Amino acid sequence: SESASDSESGKAAAVPAANQRISRVPEVNKVNKRLSVSTKISETQVKKGKYGDMNRPNKQFYQMIEEYRETLEKVPLSLTDPVELHRICVCVRKRPLNKKEVTRKEIDVVTVPGKGVLLFHEPKQKVDLTKYLDNQLFHFDYSFDESSTNDLVYRFTAKPLVKTIFEGGRATCFAYGQTGSGKTHTMGGDFSGKAQDSSKGVYSLAAHDVFNLLQQRRYADMDLSPYVTFFEIYNGKVFDLLNKKTKLRVLEDEGQQVQVVGLQEVPVSSVDDVIRLIEKGSACRTSGQTFANTNSSRSHAVLQVILRHGKQLHGKFSLVDLAGNERGTDVSSNDRKTMVETAEINRSLLALKECIRSLGQNSEHIPFRMSKLTQVLRDSFIGENSRTCMVIGLGCYSPGPWEIAMISPGMNSCDYTLNTLRYADRYMRLLEIKHAST
Ligand code: ADP
Ligand code: MG
Repeated sequence: SESASDSESGKAAAVPAANQRISRVPEVNKVNKRLSVSTKISETQVKKGKYGDMNRPNKQFYQMIEEYRETLEKVPLSLTDPVELHRICVCVRKRPLNKKEVTRKEIDVVTVPGKGVLLFHEPKQKVDLTKYLDNQLFHFDYSFDESSTNDLVYRFTAKPLVKTIFEGGRATCFAYGQTGSGKTHTMGGDFSGKAQDSSKGVYSLAAHDVFNLLQQRRYADMDLSPYVTFFEIYNGKVFDLLNKKTKLRVLEDEGQQVQVVGLQEVPVSSVDDVIRLIEKGSACRTSGQTFANTNSSRSHAVLQVILRHGKQLHGKFSLVDLAGNERGTDVSSNDRKTMVETAEINRSLLALKECIRSLGQNSEHIPFRMSKLTQVLRDSFIGENSRTCMVIGLGCYSPGPWEIAMISPGMNSCDYTLNTLRYADRYMRLLEIKHAST
């Protein structure tokens, strides 16, 4: 139809071919640039119901997005693509719609056409009530679509960091995103029903590679022993997940060395040992029967794999499942406890951004005292041999019942996702500072 070809030419020009190599530096000014390709829908297709269910809420937007997608050449990242080594790496992972979302016929407003690229299709309405899509383009080091496995995500994010700890450095991998976006799935592994398969999470995949490298000739001679710690930071307090959630104190000596007093550091000799500790700690994390009924989505969980030469610390890999980044702005969560939690989470996520900025700039000043999280992770942000990656989870794409959102503009999931992308985008800008200064 006429309108289809119209919109097609517009689209093709606006979106870079997915297989085109996109160099980040010159492209960065276009990050979050509004492409504003408005896609009209053809009447015949609405009648035919080309994209299925006629009763779907937001079906016009659904159809516009599907039509748009059909014009995109998708080149997904694959296991055979080369791995780049970044000092700070920022990527996004889109999870598939879950059963509930599919049942509610929610629409998915995010598309990952190719490496490092992500499109956000924001449904909008003009004053004359014409519906259109505001298609916004974002760039990251990597972008993982809904079909990506933990193996694939691991390969490009945490795996390249394992070597760092053998070279005496600090590696840190964060999972960031709102509750339900797949942080724990990525880090801890698959949960099907109540059972957890920790062997498929980034924690154990990293442990697997640590044991592999320990066997290698060049590292075997170094006489290194691996240990694991697993703790949780809730409301600025540290709890040991390997020791019945014992509350621990954090001390800083004159040399600004930070110590978590009494943290259990368990020697491990196989991946299975590590998996047992992940499961023990995860069970402890979610049980919540002890202190203040700690809700796991409101706390940061930190699993560390530590290498020691005798008693001396050699390298440390911190894998962090961050607290949900949702704002406490909805009315239902307006109680004091939640507000305190939210303020603390916001403070620590802001502190994290500032500390990663310092790392990117090789700055002398690291504002690590801004939060307990950054204080505990202080040595992740200093030194030549510190590397960090951020895996940003995107979940909940539906713009919600559009008409309702118009009447009462509030945070719907679409806004949350856009909010997350903007936070991620700021990280990418920090990276540009890094490029400029090195
Ligand atoms: P978070 O820790 O960010 O709150 P979870 O990891 O608990 O989120 O994920 C929420 C739900 O979505 C879980 O049931 C999880 O199994 C599922 N899920 C998350 N990511 C994926 C994915 N990539 N593929 C399949 N299911 C996923
Ligand atoms: Mg979680």
